[in-house]
Amino acid sequence: MGVNKEAYGSLLAAMQPSGATLIAVSKTKPSEDIMELYALGHRDFGENYVQELVKKQAELHKDIRWHFIGHLQSNKIKMIAPYVHLIHGVDSIKLLEAIDKEGKKINKKINCLLQVHVAKEETKFGFDLTEARQAAAIYFLEKKYPFVQLCGIMGMASFSEDEALLNQEFGALKTLYDEIKTLYAAEATGFNTLSMGMSGDYPLALACGSNMIRVGSLLFGAR
Ligand SMILES: *Cc1c(COP(=O)(O)O)cnc(C)c1O
Repeated sequence: MGVNKEAYGSLLAAMQPSGATLIAVSKTKPSEDIMELYALGHRDFGENYVQELVKKQAELHKDIRWHFIGHLQSNKIKMIAPYVHLIHGVDSIKLLEAIDKEGKKINKKINCLLQVHVAKEETKFGFDLTEARQAAAIYFLEKKYPFVQLCGIMGMASFSEDEALLNQEFGALKTLYDEIKTLYAAEATGFNTLSMGMSGDYPLALACGSNMIRVGSLLFGAR
């Protein structure tokens, strides 16, 4: 129980050269653990489950930046929309549409990342590379979702120790991110986030150009 402060220190040190952001993934962990990191000045926390986020958001400090990193169902958007800082897992046009609709209702432009599937596992959610390009085109050219702020790309590599494979997958995400950024340079001024890297693979992700890593077990212990 409790936060691994040594791991937190090494994470901050590892990210310092690039200025990347650390999301502390607190899913299934008690609010006390979050408060421990909060006391050290940490403000960015990631959660996967809507009910759990709702509960923690209500009982914790309001200056916490909550990142929703799980699979989001359309009917639950309204429960997190008013305060969520960034939704990492936008994995379909349908969800993008539903978030836009909710944003319009509460007059808030909601920060989102497109979740892109590059890993070998079949169960993981996300756009494939082609679908992600199409989604970006719809967003930037057709300007269909005015209450969505598209901030970048999120992805997960395969659960593997094969460094060549991980490099290839992180590389594919970085290439896509750069491609979209360049293609829509005029419109994509807020497109600045490449969220990739977790406890097991964040050094590789950072080396491949990640500027936001999502780390849970290394900080809070195994779930
Ligand atoms: C749980 C989770 C993480 C953190 O995983 P760890 O291996 O515990 O660091 C990161 N990203 C997503 C999308 C997750 O679901």
